[in-house]
Amino acid sequence: MKGKSLLMIPGPIEFDLDVLEQMGKPTSSHVDPEFIDNFGRAIENVKLLFQCKEGQPFIIAGSGTLAMDIAACNLTEPGDNVLQLITGYFGERMKDIFERYGANVTQITAPTGQVQDLAEVEKVLQQKKYKLMAITHVDTSTGVLNRVKEFTKLAKKYGVLVIVDGVCSVAAEELKMDEWGIDVAFTASQKAVGVPPGLALLVASNAAMEAFAKRTKPVANYYADWANWLPIMQAYENRKAAYFGTPAVNLVNALDVSLQKILKEGLNQRLLRHQKISKAFKSAMTAMGLRQIPVNPDIAANTMTAPFYPKGINPGEFLNAVRNEGVVLAGGLLADRKNEYFRVGHMGIVDIEDTMTTISAIEVALVKGGYLHEVGAGSYAALQIFDQKTV
Ligand code: PMP
Repeated sequence: MKGKSLLMIPGPIEFDLDVLEQMGKPTSSHVDPEFIDNFGRAIENVKLLFQCKEGQPFIIAGSGTLAMDIAACNLTEPGDNVLQLITGYFGERMKDIFERYGANVTQITAPTGQVQDLAEVEKVLQQKKYKLMAITHVDTSTGVLNRVKEFTKLAKKYGVLVIVDGVCSVAAEELKMDEWGIDVAFTASQKAVGVPPGLALLVASNAAMEAFAKRTKPVANYYADWANWLPIMQAYENRKAAYFGTPAVNLVNALDVSLQKILKEGLNQRLLRHQKISKAFKSAMTAMGLRQIPVNPDIAANTMTAPFYPKGINPGEFLNAVRNEGVVLAGGLLADRKNEYFRVGHMGIVDIEDTMTTISAIEVALVKGGYLHEVGAGSYAALQIFDQKTV
């Protein structure tokens, strides 16, 4: 949008104008027939987005952390064994949430920039009976893309339910709930789903809903309790109104528009676009001599990049210099390594132009910081990727 800076952080992202338009429209009643229809369609389309035909979607006002809370509080009871795979800050948070609900959590933390070893996880799964395993698809603090498909297959072998934090992956990375056997996946509106912050989106498989039905104690969180929301989601999907908590009317309308656009683009096409942009961006960083946190390209997210600052670059001055070029980036998020790296989001409606603008802004900032002598190498590397016909 002209007259504003380009927001290239890993959420919130740049939003489509048709989506934003919904935010400024007069708010209707939550029982208005048009809203009922929009909400019902959004619920149906969330199932398509998560590739979970028979799943139960929950679209609830709140951020991604609420989605984490919903998954944890509905499926854990005190004393349940949970296995948490950690690849960064958000895996740690998920573990804290499980513990808040009394779960007995075993964690396997991968070294920064890496993912867990399949054999190591299998050994842990053999040691005792776990009810749940949770995995962060893309940990936004590191840009590491975990091997959800492989780990889900492994957990299924041991009869363990799988929860996937897809906040930085859904609608941009490959994630097939039904086919891979995932029981709960969730995201938040402000990421690749392309809607301003404020909605938690979660889909639960039949097995997850059955596990919920078998609980012996009530859910410890009132707002997030599926027992409160299930009748609401079912009613709106059947084009009827129902009330538990007032839905975020404008956000739901915006979600309805965004989901229609995402599905119109096609999930496969969308994945390819994200892969291409990510590859172009990452090769620009490499051409400038910037290493990235993920130790190899197979486990690097397509939604974001986490490059290390080169030697001699001051983090604050660098981010300000990039901002002066009209682009907003994010700093590091791992508490003990904050000043070693920065983060760039490239998801949603991001295009070649946004990517090139961001690369140029980084080049200029690196020249100003005395690291590069001239601009161009990064942009040239990215253009070579964009010129290729395949990903
Ligand atoms: N999980 C991941 C992977 C995230 O990236 C985020 C947000 N950056 C969250 C959970 C929490 O989402 P929110 O900030 O919307 O509460």
